[in-house]
Amino acid sequence: MKVLIVGAGVAGLAVGWRLASAGIPVEILERGLAGRGATWASAGMIASGAELGTEKNAVAHFAHEARAKWPRFAQDLEAASGRRIDYRETGSLMAATNADKARDLEHRAAELAREGVAAAWVDAAELRRACEIQTRGHLLHLREGYLETRGRADALSDLIVQSAPAFAALLTSVARLEGHVGGDVGAAARHAERTLSVSGGAITDIVKLVGIHELPSADAERLFVPYLDALERLVDYVDGWSAR
Ligand SMILES: Cc1cc2nc3c(=O)[nH]c(=O)nc-3n(C[C@H](O)[C@H](O)[C@H](O)COP(=O)(O)OP(=O)(O)OC[C@H]3O[C@@H](n4cnc5c(N)ncnc54)[C@H](O)[C@@H]3O)c2cc1C
Repeated sequence: MKVLIVGAGVAGLAVGWRLASAGIPVEILERGLAGRGATWASAGMIASGAELGTEKNAVAHFAHEARAKWPRFAQDLEAASGRRIDYRETGSLMAATNADKARDLEHRAAELAREGVAAAWVDAAELRRACEIQTRGHLLHLREGYLETRGRADALSDLIVQSAPAFAALLTSVARLEGHVGGDVGAAARHAERTLSVSGGAITDIVKLVGIHELPSADAERLFVPYLDALERLVDYVDGWSAR
């Protein structure tokens, strides 16, 4: 028996590959280029919990089962192809933009957790406390790290580059708490610059380093003092939340 599959998108190719691996002859027909249909447009999110919420129909059941099979599928695919596909289990962050959505998401988190999905509701007060702790911690690590550089500009470059992702995440949380729910790091940096009256793009300069591995020493020396100054302002600002 030979199986004929029409369409070489992710569905046809995955089914065809599994059948062929099981020793079943397969032929895949494609009218255009393989993988250039909907598969090409896909954002690559594999998030049945976030997409389907607490739905309990057959499609939702199928999607949850399929999602659970992904880590193994990704491993097999990498082993068979010899190529990394960069599958990551990062989880999904869903932000409530109003009181109705907050109620819905809180209910959804509880339902998903009951079904064994690692889902948790994080309210604004908790996120605020986390920001307070992270901001102080970031300042402490930056100062401590600076002392450890012992004046070496290359070590200062490493310190700044390595601290940038945590700083960007912190700014995104601060912006989110203040109603900017997009999660855009650049917008969060500009929001912080306006709020803290930081001029010269000092915060934007740091978040632009996310994903960068090397920073010239001269740039590190130019960026460090404004970075520290912005962070000190952020600590004062975040500390002031409880008083507001
Ligand atoms: C903008 C966008 C974002 C998305 N984001 C996500 C996401 O983040 N996560 C997620 O899980 N899903 C996402 N999706 C959905 C996901 O892309 C699709 O569910 C998935 O790619 C469908 O795969 P498929 O193989 O069924 O279809 P396709 O990839 O479209 O493949 C079908 C193939 O069949 C071929 N074909 C059609 N008719 C014939 C014919 N008569 N003869 C020969 N060949 C034919 C087409 O040329 C095409 O190559 C997204 C979709 C879009 C459009």
